[in-house]
Amino acid sequence: MNSNSLVDSNPLLLSPIKDLAKLLEICINRLNDAIVITEADAINVPGPRIIWANKVFFERNGYSPDEIIGQSPRILQGPETDRAVLHRVRTALESWQSVRAEVLNYRKDGSSYWNEFEIVPIANEKGVYTHFVSVQRDVTERKLLEMKFKELSSIDYLTEVFNRRSFMDKMEHEFALLQRGYYAQLAVLMLDIDFFKHVNDTFGHAAGDMVLKHLASLLRNNLRRIDTVGRLGGEEFAIILPNTNIGAAKVFADRLMVNIMDSVAEYNGKFLPVTVSIGISVIEDISVTTEAALIQADKELYRAKQEGRNRTCP
Ligand code: GH3
Ligand code: MG
Ligand code: MG
Repeated sequence: MNSNSLVDSNPLLLSPIKDLAKLLEICINRLNDAIVITEADAINVPGPRIIWANKVFFERNGYSPDEIIGQSPRILQGPETDRAVLHRVRTALESWQSVRAEVLNYRKDGSSYWNEFEIVPIANEKGVYTHFVSVQRDVTERKLLEMKFKELSSIDYLTEVFNRRSFMDKMEHEFALLQRGYYAQLAVLMLDIDFFKHVNDTFGHAAGDMVLKHLASLLRNNLRRIDTVGRLGGEEFAIILPNTNIGAAKVFADRLMVNIMDSVAEYNGKFLPVTVSIGISVIEDISVTTEAALIQADKELYRAKQEGRNRTCP
């Protein structure tokens, strides 16, 4: 059958649309995306007023048309809505640019969802901007998956502390705070299990893994909320202690070393000995890089091993 015979046999196809506005409204209300039209007034408080929205918009946000028409879309923002993203949107609209973004929106009942939207400024035939039209999609499911993935990729799968990459990111962040004067100094500790090969060789690799988990959980329990611990690789961990001078860092490391020695790691009813050596470097000079701080702590760790293990240096 060619296309002509299709039209011939179905007179409704390609017939002129009698009421385009009505048809458009039916179509727009059938979409899964919300559509909102506001006045073009990006700058003034409380923001552009909503003059029309499709059915999905009201259903998704839990407001009736009476409660929404005349309000600004800012009614959907809440405590966790990212202000930096909103600023970027506002800046684009102020210069009549289209803008695309994702923000956390809040429904009338206070629950939240992730909203992906694009706003396009609409001009009349004289080129004067009169409205903004926004198409909005609920992307909560995708966003939660993304966040989960990010979390998984920044955490060491075995010990559940930061992995090397995210620890280094965190360290850069903390060094930036030192440079801006938020901290007087930063202590960096490098910690390595003593004779870990012996644990693996005697009790097996699974027992070794258990010791790593046991140690990581002990480290976490000994830290303050502002401290950070990461597994740099193998049986080597690093710790950042903000605002900690050399005296305090040494007291902390010695206490940690004793806590580890006194703790009991058990595997299949067997007691597994764990001792660690710790190297400490304390940074006050803001020109010191994260790499240099780690090298210094690693040198001190090497010295602790040389001097007999189960000890801290300096
Ligand atoms: P030292 O006191 O000098 O540190 O001696 P050591 O035996 O601990 O020596 P080293 O640090 O070189 O040994 C690291 C061992 O850690 C070697 C490797 O088999 C083991 N290892 C590294 N990653 C893992 C892991 O994920 N699980 C287990 N079970 N063992 C690991
Ligand atoms: Mg070791
Ligand atoms: Mg090692």
